[in-house]
Amino acid sequence: MKVLVINCGSSSLKYQLIDSETEQVLAKGLCERIGIDGRLTHRPTGKDKVEIEAPMPNHTEAVSLVLKHLTDPEVGVIGSLEEIGAVGHRIVHGGEKFASSTVLTDEVIAEIEKVSDLAPLHNPANLIGIRACMELMPGVPMVGVFDTAFHQTMPEVAYLYGLPYEYYEKYGVRRYGFHGTSHSFVSKRVAEILGKDVKELKTIVCHLGNGASICAVCGGKSVDTSMGFTPLEGLVMGTRSGDLDPAILEYVAGKENLTLAQIETVLNKKSGVAGVSGVSSDFRDLGKAAEEGNHRAAVAVDMFAYRVAKYVGAYAAAMNGVDVIAFTAGIGENDISMRAKILSYLGFLGVKLDAEKNNIRGEERVISTEDSTVLAMVVPTNEELAICRETVALV
Ligand code: AMP
Repeated sequence: MKVLVINCGSSSLKYQLIDSETEQVLAKGLCERIGIDGRLTHRPTGKDKVEIEAPMPNHTEAVSLVLKHLTDPEVGVIGSLEEIGAVGHRIVHGGEKFASSTVLTDEVIAEIEKVSDLAPLHNPANLIGIRACMELMPGVPMVGVFDTAFHQTMPEVAYLYGLPYEYYEKYGVRRYGFHGTSHSFVSKRVAEILGKDVKELKTIVCHLGNGASICAVCGGKSVDTSMGFTPLEGLVMGTRSGDLDPAILEYVAGKENLTLAQIETVLNKKSGVAGVSGVSSDFRDLGKAAEEGNHRAAVAVDMFAYRVAKYVGAYAAAMNGVDVIAFTAGIGENDISMRAKILSYLGFLGVKLDAEKNNIRGEERVISTEDSTVLAMVVPTNEELAICRETVALV
């Protein structure tokens, strides 16, 4: 079956058409500036890339343009839309309602709308993408895959905040966690690579990209993760602050004459390694600046590694041990020195890095020494493939 995977943001739409039997990507691409002007980048496998400026007043127009390119005689990869057997949609927040992926019906969409309050920037955009696809591909089964679903197995001790309990009961204020599709994919892949049952393994997945989170996966289930009520909690990220003392908010708001909404923008967009370094949110730029003697860039890189290592230590305690530490996403898969820096804190757990094996980017590999009692691994994530698999399983 050919599955169209859609990841819809407020002004963008990413897509991949995947053949579920071979798991090959037939085409992928990105619509940007939807509602502003419109730009499409379409990459059909084995053919030349297409880049065009085209008006996209709304998401329905964007989906329509994507479908036109997928079926185009020259740059297309399928003969007609009938070849698309199902559509898998990435949905950011499923609240407590969705602990697994689900076939999208009118009732399910109404439930997703109810939890949109928890992700006001993301869920409404996801829903627009779902409706656009339903309009243009009536009768094609659609599946929603939630970033939060994998973490619904967290115990109360991990998901409750130390706040008045009624905030949880009345408003759903608790830790939900994100990147669940990636944490689930990588923890399963670790077990496959090692030829073990996922139920026997305690794995700590470090999803280190522009957004970054860590997950303790015990016997295949998420038991704790570093992002919380929103994707702002946890690690220091590209532009997000991660954990901080909440008293800072009022203090800085007073000093800088900012509203709470403005402070939240600072915490999401102007903080993290970009805020600390004043250089960039990209670790390649930070590495270069640090080499040239920029102290703040060097500290930002070290802070990132330190915070990751602290979470790994905490999650080893949460699971009473750890078998595998797995690195994934842009930084986890590609930043050789960052992996070494993080693991340099963790020798006490029994992990020993093999510097030669660590000298890779974007490949699956065990990077710890033979006598290491805890394995370190690089396992590239593939959220689109995970969404494709979930979709096929449900339809
Ligand atoms: P992601 O959000 O998973 O796409 O990850 C994006 C981040 O990965 C970028 O901001 C970079 O900091 C980082 N990254 C990608 N490639 C490299 C590389 N070769 N070395 C260091 N960092 C990298």
